[in-house]
Amino acid sequence: MLIDSHAHLDMKQFDSDRDQVIDRALSADVRHIITVGIDIKSSLNAVKLTTHYPPIFATIGIHPHNADNANNNDLEQIALIAQQDKIIAIGEIGLDFFHNRSARQKQIEVFIQQLAIAISLDLPVVIHDREAHTNTLNILSSFKKSGLKGMIHCFSGDYNLAKTFIDMGYYISIPGTVTFNNASQIQDVARRVPLNRMLLETDAPFLAPTPYRGNRNEPGYVTHTAQKIAKLRDVSFEEISYQTSKNVCQLFNLSFPE
Ligand SMILES: [Zn+2]
Ligand SMILES: [Zn+2]
Repeated sequence: MLIDSHAHLDMKQFDSDRDQVIDRALSADVRHIITVGIDIKSSLNAVKLTTHYPPIFATIGIHPHNADNANNNDLEQIALIAQQDKIIAIGEIGLDFFHNRSARQKQIEVFIQQLAIAISLDLPVVIHDREAHTNTLNILSSFKKSGLKGMIHCFSGDYNLAKTFIDMGYYISIPGTVTFNNASQIQDVARRVPLNRMLLETDAPFLAPTPYRGNRNEPGYVTHTAQKIAKLRDVSFEEISYQTSKNVCQLFNLSFPE
């Protein structure tokens, strides 16, 4: 059994065959898929998907790319939508100082506002951190006392950074890039992170693992990521699948699928 802890099933890349994509994931024994909002519209679409498909849960939020366009009304909406059934976290939220599609100061502002929403609703967070490790760490540290927890999605740092996040109460989510030949840093992380703090994700439709590299990614492919990590750690596929699924349920307060 597996869980894809982060996918964008609302995106247009799935418009023509969403049902089949979800069926294929279920056939691959992927029991839950967590679909992720990146703005108000996609958050509302994520909610719709959770009502259509029993195995789907959602997280909602404003992605750092969209921070420039976010106003107070949007943030109020996020707080409201988050109270619906099957919405299990605020995210993805964070900082992207690689693409810089929104002004850095505004990214920081919207990130902090959404962390406050998560705390007020007692929900975990899904963090996007691209080339913004120091700022992300500092901001999350400033909320440490609140008991905030969450996952660092598509983790892109080294083992020391992973360890720092783990010590702060976060889970490290490993994407399909760990299957790439030249991915020594993320492979090192996948080898050394304590198994009870690791999650697996596709970030579909992006970042398809080998042997699908360069094509559209989909939640069923999370099996390839699990297989690679089992090999890297010299443990069974079943152990990786079981423990990472358990971690997702623990973090997001889901019941463990039978
Ligand atoms: Zn992201
Ligand atoms: Zn994402």
